[in-house]
Amino acid sequence: MAEKLMKYADAVAQFDPVFGLETHVELSTNTKLFCPAHIEFGGDPNTQLTPVSLGLPGSLPVVNATAIDYAIKLGLALHCEIAEWSQFARKNYFYPDMPRDYQISQYDKPLNGEGYLDVELDDGSMFRVPIERAHVEDDAGKNTHVGGADGRIEGADYSLVDYNRAGVPLIEIVTKPIEGAGSRAPEIAGAYVRAIRDIVRALNISHARMEQGNMRADVNISLRRSAEDPLGTRSETKNVNSFRGIEKTLQYEIRRQAAILSDGGEIVQETRHWDEATQTTAGGRVKSDADDYRYFPDPDLVMVHVTKEHIARMQAQMPEMPRERRNRLQSEWKFSDLEMRDVINADALDLIEATVHAGATASGARKWWLGELSREANSRGVTLEELPIEPAEVADIEKLVAAGTLNDKLAKQTMTGVLAGEGTPAQVVAKHGYQVVSDDGALQAAVDKALADNPDIVAKLKTGNMKPIGVIIGAVMRQTRGQADAKAVTSMVREKLR
Ligand code: MN
Repeated sequence: MAEKLMKYADAVAQFDPVFGLETHVELSTNTKLFCPAHIEFGGDPNTQLTPVSLGLPGSLPVVNATAIDYAIKLGLALHCEIAEWSQFARKNYFYPDMPRDYQISQYDKPLNGEGYLDVELDDGSMFRVPIERAHVEDDAGKNTHVGGADGRIEGADYSLVDYNRAGVPLIEIVTKPIEGAGSRAPEIAGAYVRAIRDIVRALNISHARMEQGNMRADVNISLRRSAEDPLGTRSETKNVNSFRGIEKTLQYEIRRQAAILSDGGEIVQETRHWDEATQTTAGGRVKSDADDYRYFPDPDLVMVHVTKEHIARMQAQMPEMPRERRNRLQSEWKFSDLEMRDVINADALDLIEATVHAGATASGARKWWLGELSREANSRGVTLEELPIEPAEVADIEKLVAAGTLNDKLAKQTMTGVLAGEGTPAQVVAKHGYQVVSDDGALQAAVDKALADNPDIVAKLKTGNMKPIGVIIGAVMRQTRGQADAKAVTSMVREKLR
């Protein structure tokens, strides 16, 4: 049954949204959080295990020091207070993907305490997201339900469980309630999770690929009539695994909750899930704050002690952060603020940097990735990164243009060939014989014919009005199958008119 929704603009005019995000980031350590089981994406089911991953009796966990170091670096990047002493706790629940019957997480003594992250919005303004904590925990295994509709447990004939992921280290970054966002709540949420993605990539502590489940977010949101009111009852949408999904979850929940509240109804505190196919959230388990996980300190693990000296060592290893890098690249590339924002919004920063490294000019790289290639990605419904073309190939095409071998039109055709899988730019150029006609004789003849065919244009050009020169260039292009160098044609025409 379709739920009643209020128009977004009306909902944010009548209500003040307050939201929070719990973002899980999978760390890219070689081994699991509490045992030396190897971690590799896409391995055969149940091949990356030790007795500890399976919670077998008598097995004892030992903390992975690299995972702790990764978490400290993230804590530093998020301006968190790093606890000198932190502790793992057992979070008890029963579900077949968790063979010990408890998750090992951190409860009242997390490694990273309060912090914040400043995120840049589309219009260039900044918004400070307050962070409550960023704690370390292990992941559960993965259930696969077979025989039912859309992989859900309801109606399934049987279920399979893969424990390869059980014990993989996670950091859970929990924001405080984010107030004052108003109608920009979805945009702020998206910018925040993207900023987290950029930071963990810069720190090299996670692959941070949302589509592979390396990052996922739980989205909490409640509405209130005014910013002076106490917080309303919230919904929690679990495991949203795309940036767009996070933004749309917030939009949808704001519209849904506003419709209920304005009808005098009450919000049910529950966990929901985001359905990508219908672009809606659907209710799940009714949840209360009294959910009893019976947390207690894990007696198998000693407390984690982080000295000031160790934090200083980690601080010294911190790489350039994404915002500093962005500012540096903007000044190196001489892009305007607006150009740079377009690059960021198109998620093209890494690609342009790689293209420039491969020898292209910054403006040339930007032109291709934000122009032709963005259009292509849009029409294919994929990200720029997923297009079947490498930054070095874009650079090669750009270099062929700079060398005068290709004009813009031939360069586009070469790119189309590369995207169609015809090979490298050099192979595509060779296959189709793309080459600007530089043979003076052939070009002279084409120009002469174009001038002879267009006496009225020639008359205009002779009065000094050069606007219609495009007609002549077009005629030459047609004669040379697009392989003429427009600059050379222009100078020839000027020469002949003299
Ligand atoms: Mn968690």
